[in-house]
Amino acid sequence: MEAALRLAHLYPKLMNLYGDRGNILCLRRRCQQRDIALAVDELELGEALDPAAYDLIFIGGAQDREQRRVAADLLGTKAEALHRAVEQGVVLLAVCGGYQLLGRHYRPAAGEELAGVGIFDAWTVHPGPTARRFIGNVVVRWQGATLVGFENHGGRTYLGPSARPLATVIAGFGNNGRDGSEGVVQGENAFGTYLHGSLLPKNPRFADHLIAQALRRRYGEVELSPLDDALEERAHAEAVRLATKKSIFLRR
Ligand code: GLN
Repeated sequence: MEAALRLAHLYPKLMNLYGDRGNILCLRRRCQQRDIALAVDELELGEALDPAAYDLIFIGGAQDREQRRVAADLLGTKAEALHRAVEQGVVLLAVCGGYQLLGRHYRPAAGEELAGVGIFDAWTVHPGPTARRFIGNVVVRWQGATLVGFENHGGRTYLGPSARPLATVIAGFGNNGRDGSEGVVQGENAFGTYLHGSLLPKNPRFADHLIAQALRRRYGEVELSPLDDALEERAHAEAVRLATKKSIFLRR
């Protein structure tokens, strides 16, 4: 039997910073190499999400302006379906601006607070346009290994009691630059993170973690055949090197 998975990509046009779309390309390729058919539907503003139609859902990042439009649309056309999908075990990955909007609320640099979808027990506050932005390469510890990425956000995210961090910061800022946490895991299948870059091509273990979880839900226990990740591992190692290298000014 050939396995098949379906993915909903939310707002690919509005929410696509720093190559977030590369995450979809990566999932597609890693599935293809294992004879898993991955069908992708792109859902934009005004388009309803069928909670029973997907195995995976992805939303990328954007700046405050786009986020305001997307926040209203999420609440209007997709919030209830997102909750139902996540309750049913659909694997969700939300990056940066998307992560912020799937929390309880996001207070942007200016203007009114945006109500969030509330998938994540987390909230985000942007301290204002003059606040330091958290920009640069990030390395975090995740399940005994490292994840790498690039972050660029003004918002500071804090986790409530029912959420747990995805990872702990080794280099970079993560959720809020204070408590060493990066990202969120809600339940077993909803993941939020600030890592762009894109995230999955440089972190093949995490990509496989998502694919395996989606397959397990549909087909029962699965073991993914290993792929040749030599290039991916080199990109990962280079990102770790860049993120952890001390500035020449600090070294003196
Ligand atoms: N607008 C948000 C912030 O600056 C998210 C930016 C992003 O997605 N990179 O905090």
